[in-house]
Amino acid sequence: MFYQPVIGLEIHCELKTKGKMFCGCPNNPDEVRANFNVCPVCLGHPGTLPVINRRAAESVLKLGLALGGRISSVSHFDRKSYFYPDLPKGYQISQYQQPLVKGGNLNGVRITRIHLEEDTGTLSHDKDNHTLVDFNRAGIPLMELVTEPDIKNAEEAVAFAKELRLILRYLGISGANMEKGEMRIEVNISVSQDDKLGVKVEVKNLNSFKAVEEAIKCEIQRQTAILERGEKIVQETRGWNEAKRETVSQRFKEESHDYRYFPEPDLPPLDLTEFRLEESKHSLPELPAEKRIRFEKEYGLTAIQTEIIIEDIRVVKYFEEAAGELKFQILNSPATRDTAQQDKFQILYNYLTSDLFGLMAEQGIALKDLKIVPKQLAELVGLIIENEISSRIAKDVLKEMFLTGLSPRQIVQEKELSQISDVGEIENVVKKIIAENLKAVEDYKKGKENILQFLIGKAIADLRGRGNPEVIKKIFKKLI
Ligand code: ADP
Ligand code: ZN
Ligand code: MG
Repeated sequence: MFYQPVIGLEIHCELKTKGKMFCGCPNNPDEVRANFNVCPVCLGHPGTLPVINRRAAESVLKLGLALGGRISSVSHFDRKSYFYPDLPKGYQISQYQQPLVKGGNLNGVRITRIHLEEDTGTLSHDKDNHTLVDFNRAGIPLMELVTEPDIKNAEEAVAFAKELRLILRYLGISGANMEKGEMRIEVNISVSQDDKLGVKVEVKNLNSFKAVEEAIKCEIQRQTAILERGEKIVQETRGWNEAKRETVSQRFKEESHDYRYFPEPDLPPLDLTEFRLEESKHSLPELPAEKRIRFEKEYGLTAIQTEIIIEDIRVVKYFEEAAGELKFQILNSPATRDTAQQDKFQILYNYLTSDLFGLMAEQGIALKDLKIVPKQLAELVGLIIENEISSRIAKDVLKEMFLTGLSPRQIVQEKELSQISDVGEIENVVKKIIAENLKAVEDYKKGKENILQFLIGKAIADLRGRGNPEVIKKIFKKLI
């Protein structure tokens, strides 16, 4: 029998703000000294008062606008009470009734809400089995995005989460690295045979996209098997056991009334009309979906090529800067104006993603430490298009640029690498090659076509790669 899986996601992301959500402590996820970024407010001392970090609220509003959500005119915070050693106050300040954002859509999945809360501290266990608590993370602004149960399978769930991560990074509001815990995904899964929703199970502790995918697949199988045996699914929270690759029961799901939500008495309602939403809307950066369309149209890149560029915002910046330079060079050079626009961007794309990324991977250099600036890469592409250098030489020039940071023109001049267009010089070399390879020339005359390639290769080697293969070929044909 076929069971239709239904999935809804709850995604938490730490926001990149200077300070914490309700106090002035630095928000530094990389702090290694335990309990260093703490104060009476984020340690939950009695009598202290929280103050709302407006930047954090702004970040959530930006995301809301980017996803087409409705921004409430007033929003307020609530206390969510529960006991856990990483939660010093005994409650978390969160939002229940009036989240900052309601509605919206991403990848065809409806967004239920996006709200703001504070992160908890972290627990660790030492070798004597003591539990240690670090409150550096306590009070870091945390947004939570909840989706409607619109997702049909593991692949769609992962695609949704990856697209969200990309948008968060484009907006610059979260690093959204799952391995650093900056982005945490909980999945709710049910299966059913009719259009009524089945009983859902929530899976936590998913620390990678792979875990999300595997946990969903595994849970669909487990639930389907239970229903096929004629048994019932219990609503519960399960964890993901990475080693065994299975979900394991943790606890039976608490209902929201267990948390005793009530309006946070220490904070005033947040008047969102003060946030100049129209302005924010206009200042949103170009988002990945728009970029995809433009890249294919403007640069003639394929969908796959586009994806390789846009999945990293730093690569996007680099590519666009180089492409802009290239456009400018083309406009100013009569020699290259007639080469099809899009071929130029293809050459740029290839040199960036295969040659340059290849060198970077080989030498362990990150884009931010790269000596070659986008303008120089564009200049190299210009030299290739203008037939100033052969593509074989271009690879050597790129390597030299990579090591020295010098401009390609300078390297070509200093090393005398530009293509020899002087026919006389090439003719002399071709004559010499013919004289040295009389047997091969005879064979060629008898009809062994591919011998010509061999002879051209010899001439190119003699010219140290600087001869234009097309010109050399013509001269061979003329002289033989
Ligand atoms: P709870 O009150 O248990 O937290 P919510 O209604 O707030 O439940 O939903 C939490 C998440 O679970 C949402 O992402 C929602 O889309 C998803 N969800 C709700 N019901 C189901 C279901 N029957 N199957 C799968 N996901 C569901
Ligand atoms: Zn603090
Ligand atoms: Mg809920």
